[in-house]
Amino acid sequence: MDTPAWTWLRIVLLVPLSGALASCVTRPASSASSSLSPTPTSSTSGGPWNRPTCCDVLASTLGSKVSFPSSNAYNASISSYWSQQESEIAPRCIVSPSSASDVSAALKVLVPRACKFAVRGGGHGAIAGIANIDDGVTIDLGGLSAVTVSSDNKKVKVGGGASWGAVYARLSPLGLAAPGARHATVGVGGSSLGGGFGFFAPKVGFACDNVVQFEVVLANGNIVTASPRTNPNLWRALRGGGNNFGIVTEFTFKTFPLGPMWAGEAYFSASALEAQTQTLYSFTANTNYDLNAGLTVNYAFTPASGPLLTNTYAYAQPVVNPPIFQPFATMAGQLLNNTSVTTLADFSVAQAKESPNGFQEITFATTFENDLGMLRELWAIYTASTNSVANVSGIQWSLSLDPIVPAVVARSDANGGNVLGLRVPAHGLILAVLTATFGSAGDYEIVQAAADKLLADIMEAAKARGVFNPYVDVNHAGKSQDPLASYGLANLAFLKATALHFDPRGVFQTLMPGGFKL
Ligand SMILES: Cc1cc2nc3c(=O)[nH]c(=O)nc-3n(C[C@H](O)[C@H](O)[C@H](O)COP(=O)(O)OP(=O)(O)OC[C@H]3O[C@@H](n4cnc5c(N)ncnc54)[C@H](O)[C@@H]3O)c2cc1C
Repeated sequence: MDTPAWTWLRIVLLVPLSGALASCVTRPASSASSSLSPTPTSSTSGGPWNRPTCCDVLASTLGSKVSFPSSNAYNASISSYWSQQESEIAPRCIVSPSSASDVSAALKVLVPRACKFAVRGGGHGAIAGIANIDDGVTIDLGGLSAVTVSSDNKKVKVGGGASWGAVYARLSPLGLAAPGARHATVGVGGSSLGGGFGFFAPKVGFACDNVVQFEVVLANGNIVTASPRTNPNLWRALRGGGNNFGIVTEFTFKTFPLGPMWAGEAYFSASALEAQTQTLYSFTANTNYDLNAGLTVNYAFTPASGPLLTNTYAYAQPVVNPPIFQPFATMAGQLLNNTSVTTLADFSVAQAKESPNGFQEITFATTFENDLGMLRELWAIYTASTNSVANVSGIQWSLSLDPIVPAVVARSDANGGNVLGLRVPAHGLILAVLTATFGSAGDYEIVQAAADKLLADIMEAAKARGVFNPYVDVNHAGKSQDPLASYGLANLAFLKATALHFDPRGVFQTLMPGGFKL
């Protein structure tokens, strides 16, 4: 029998004040409502009291900022994740805050009631549950998307749910940039909290290295800032430590000058492999590395195309075919070249079109020292791996190789450091990232097994050659990898101590299971 309305209202009002009533009873599926008004629950699973659900209390607190299944707001959020597996998760309700105060109010409802929740930034994490949660509450930060440039153009404040495209679109016309992801649709939130490796990492470091201040909502609902002067340990921990400390509602980045730039892609047949391998090696080992240059070499496979080489070039000046890229330009076997003088805003949009939403996605990341023998063996390992996925419908099996040159870490250190624990030898590192895209969840096990084997084979080869590097890029890590442990014991201990200080009950590890946890 439904609780009379007045009794229910009394419970709603009492629950926030009463520890005895502070537990979360999730809304039974049958009672999920598209109404934005709180409704009494018929669940009696919480004992003698018919307690309101977490979502009911949120709705009574935040009104129309809480949406329920079948509503337009709920569907728009759920359908806009990048990976299909994230879109298939159904939270009991979604909170869409428009301010840090809203985020604080949400946590003040969720945490005392032990309600499970997820936090979504740009929704570009691939792993199921990284930024969404079945039978819980998802806080979608998409409404926190303001991008505000300081009057002296030296800093930009960015909402915790903004996309890099919004940042670049605001900054490019001013001849400015902030160093973020290469695709416009990627969220500033997740990518920056995981480091954030982009075209201009050699020039300015990781995205996180350029955050001069975070606005953070802690587990107790307090809104704090983290900067070199205020809460400096939290500031440092957020430079790579992910979502383990709080919900970041605003990032303040340093900007850097960036006008028109040269960028684009060049595709080659596999016949260019040896030239490409030698060029990648020399490019990465170049002790006179041109800091304007950013490169991704990509091994791409579809059953129709077979293995191809698809490279992305970026140069932070409007110079066509700059000298550092000329060894690539002269390789035989080029099938396509769409490089041009463009802007970061336009180029990031073009890049994003190549990775649309709505597919099954599996990723991993691993790192090894730049080594000619390893690069040659890598191709053999990669092409062998394509046999395992060749019959998967719609498969795109892509292994990208990002040079990490010593200048990247020099920039990180100059900017106050981060917790990634990355040390780069003079000949550079190669960050290898798998992105496997396919259409059907029914093929998931096959593709995951192939990805696991490919990762194991690459790591084994790198170890056998003595060129393995432990760094795992959290932004592309696979679900069974442990990127935070890859930062090294001292950084891990620092992250744990900082989390304990700012979140003594471990809310961001227990109530918020999504993401890589300490
Ligand atoms: C097409 C594509 C291109 C990419 N390009 C790059 C690239 O160039 N460089 C790079 O480094 N990475 C890149 N990535 C990886 C990307 O950085 C990660 O997937 C990142 O996690 C995405 O962040 P998001 O906010 O969009 O994702 P979400 O899935 O929303 O969030 C990822 C994680 O971050 C947490 N989180 C997000 N925002 C906040 C916040 N404000 N406060 C607290 N926690 C938060 C979430 O809880 C979740 O655990 C790319 C990914 C894709 C799909």
